[in-house]
Amino acid sequence: MRTIGRTGKTMIRALVAGAWLFAASSAAAQTRLKVVTSTTDLLYIAEQVGGNRIEGKHISEGYQDPHFVEAKPSFVLDLRRADVWAFVGLDLEIGWMSLLLNGARNPKIKPGAPGYVDVSKAIPVIDVPSGAVDRSQGDVHPLGNPHYWLDPDNGKRIARLFRDRFAELDPAGAGAYEKNLGAFEATLDRAAAEWAGARAALRGKPIVAWHTSWRYFAEYTGVDIVGFMEPKPGVPPSPSHLAGLIMTMKRRGAKVIIMEPYYDRKTADFVATKAGATVLVLPPSVGGAKGIDDYGGMIRHNILALAKAVE
Ligand SMILES: [Zn+2]
Repeated sequence: MRTIGRTGKTMIRALVAGAWLFAASSAAAQTRLKVVTSTTDLLYIAEQVGGNRIEGKHISEGYQDPHFVEAKPSFVLDLRRADVWAFVGLDLEIGWMSLLLNGARNPKIKPGAPGYVDVSKAIPVIDVPSGAVDRSQGDVHPLGNPHYWLDPDNGKRIARLFRDRFAELDPAGAGAYEKNLGAFEATLDRAAAEWAGARAALRGKPIVAWHTSWRYFAEYTGVDIVGFMEPKPGVPPSPSHLAGLIMTMKRRGAKVIIMEPYYDRKTADFVATKAGATVLVLPPSVGGAKGIDDYGGMIRHNILALAKAVE
């Protein structure tokens, strides 16, 4: 072990470079694909498909607002060494992605290279605006809704995309990736059988969500989102919008407001009190709450918790 006598500064440097340094010290690991993803969900699924043939890192944490991540400069080094850069796309990472990629100057993960993986390309995207969208109005979904990982069927689509890209970059692992994909899909299918009753109980139930992030979840469960706390995706609630929302909730019988941990709980509580509803904070990603450390578990938690809340 190399901990004795190290200064704090060296320790921090070692922590930052941690995973890659470890890889370099192991002969077997030198052939592993180095995968960097923007989110925890993408990394979790990549690891299920990649198994021990990849090693990965993610940039945003599951409890952070993915629209407004402060990407640390240390990620430039990770991207410089990466074989794969996988991101949600649809402008979710627009605030920082090109800065990091330009800094990394890594031809393997440049647009057009097989290591550049825009995961949204594998997804049937919803809420795509029909006309031109002016970002100055504050809409953070100008290319359609990027929160597609909250539908487990899209989780499978993400996994299949990783199978294809990893096999292209590492043909010797094609069989392993295929096998791992099958295991991941089987695990999700088993989980879906367990949550089927709760999913059915959600069909048609009126609720409110803070952000349109729950639209894919609603597509999967059939829960009826009758209104959003935000007047537009990314635009904070205004008093007049909330007054209208409270009326809608009363009229439609919406008894639950769901929201991510990073939105303003007080405002949600205020609306809930006026409308005779309750607020339910749900983890939007792997790592979005304590104990939510796998993808199927995150979906399961959200379906069961919401089914209980709308009972
Ligand atoms: Zn969003």
